[in-house]
Amino acid sequence: QPYGVNQLRKMFLEFFESKGHLAMKSFSLVPHNDKSLLLINSGMAPLKPYFTGQEIPPRRRVTTCQKCIRTGDIENVGKTARHGTFFEMLGNFSFGDYFKNEAIEWSWEFLTEVVGLDPNRLYPSVYEDDDEAFEIWNKKMGIPAERIFRFGKEDNFWEHGSGPCGPCSEIYYDRGEKYGCGEPGCTVGCECDRYMEIWNNVFSQFNNDGHGNYTDLIQKNIDTGMGLERLACIVQDVDSMFDIDTMKALRDHVCNLSGKQYGIDHETDVSLRVVTDHIRSVTFMVSDGILPSNSGRGYVLRRLLRRACRHGKLLGIDGAFLVELATTVIEGSKDGYPELEEKKEFIFNVIAKEEANFNKTIDQGLAILADMEAEMEKNGEKVLSGENAFKLYDTYGFPIDLTSEILEEKGLTYDEEGFKKAQEEQRAKSEGTFGTHSYTGKEVSVYDQLDAALETEFVGYDNLTFDSKVT
Ligand code: ATP
Ligand code: MG
Ligand code: MG
Ligand code: MG
Repeated sequence: QPYGVNQLRKMFLEFFESKGHLAMKSFSLVPHNDKSLLLINSGMAPLKPYFTGQEIPPRRRVTTCQKCIRTGDIENVGKTARHGTFFEMLGNFSFGDYFKNEAIEWSWEFLTEVVGLDPNRLYPSVYEDDDEAFEIWNKKMGIPAERIFRFGKEDNFWEHGSGPCGPCSEIYYDRGEKYGCGEPGCTVGCECDRYMEIWNNVFSQFNNDGHGNYTDLIQKNIDTGMGLERLACIVQDVDSMFDIDTMKALRDHVCNLSGKQYGIDHETDVSLRVVTDHIRSVTFMVSDGILPSNSGRGYVLRRLLRRACRHGKLLGIDGAFLVELATTVIEGSKDGYPELEEKKEFIFNVIAKEEANFNKTIDQGLAILADMEAEMEKNGEKVLSGENAFKLYDTYGFPIDLTSEILEEKGLTYDEEGFKKAQEEQRAKSEGTFGTHSYTGKEVSVYDQLDAALETEFVGYDNLTFDSKVT
């Protein structure tokens, strides 16, 4: 019986505790005091002040399993074996304490001795100029030189906007030929899913001021990140992260609700995986107090939820289904995130309201979009007018990326400039008439007001009675 996801999370944290680390709870998905980031996208993001020396960490060695959202990966979801918009990142961190030697040694020890992965399938990579890291892998760890890959800035220099950054050393696992793209040059670093990147060890020693000026940080740090779902995928020897124990339970639930089987039709599988992924993002985001709205984080949530609704429709699911799926998310993850269970009722309420809202207009919107497409075909047009795209957005609640995705499936696009212009015009017009959502005709929901309040501190769990306030 291979290790389950919840077990692997525990094993990782306990391993680094045994190496003197303080295990800290995952931070919220909502960044604290960090305007450069909409949502937490890595284990290091909430720890930035400890890296820069701005704040004193509770201990110089810390380990976490951090919930992450990467909407930038949304197009990959369902198509690759390894990308979710939501995932958990395991990490060990050193704030001016240990450096490359220990980080490399412990990552290898964890993978090969604790988890028991075959060392012959693991391949490290280093930043092209980083001879020090190369030597550690080669001399100290005994990895033959030809198994260590040197990559450039693109892959092996970690930075996200401004702040702490540095060269990194990543660990890949060869899952075997059957997962390869079959191209002649397919090897470590190939974008296909054969050599899966599992762990990134960042030697964070520089600060980027945001304009490409690098200075030495006052201390040398270690920041590592390993996707828990990817680790589980390899340990459980399954095709993709959608086949690991917790994700499979959720995926099976989507199959049950839709009466569809997994692994028969490619398009169906993509939709099954999209719903499986997005409901995780949605559940975790709401549990961190994010509410659907028309801007910022709230809009990310709204887009993910509505995209899940549409893929549910594609799968033939009738009526509301997201709350039911959220129960399975909570069941699978409450071990690591007890807050899910605690905030269950709140999560269900928020999801139910937003789904019901969209359900009122989605069928009509889809029908109208189909009419628009037919009209375009008749006229030999490939680009939906900005006006029509805006109508779908404004009257039927279609986030523009949803419209865009549906068009794309037919080889069509929309007029981006025209859409923005229509949006601007409406904004100008509605100035002064604050308070109405044109697609429901109702007052600005309590969601929007709360989203604004969220900028400071979230107090909604106790102060809200959804049924009386949200329409
Ligand atoms: P990839 O090249 O596969 O997109 P990455 O280089 O963007 O991954 P990092 O930014 O180095 O990823 O993040 C550290 C680790 O987090 C990765 O090695 C991987 O295990 C995990 N990870 C990154 N993005 C995702 C995702 N979208 N879904 C699941 N796990 C992820
Ligand atoms: Mg990536
Ligand atoms: Mg990568
Ligand atoms: Mg990486």
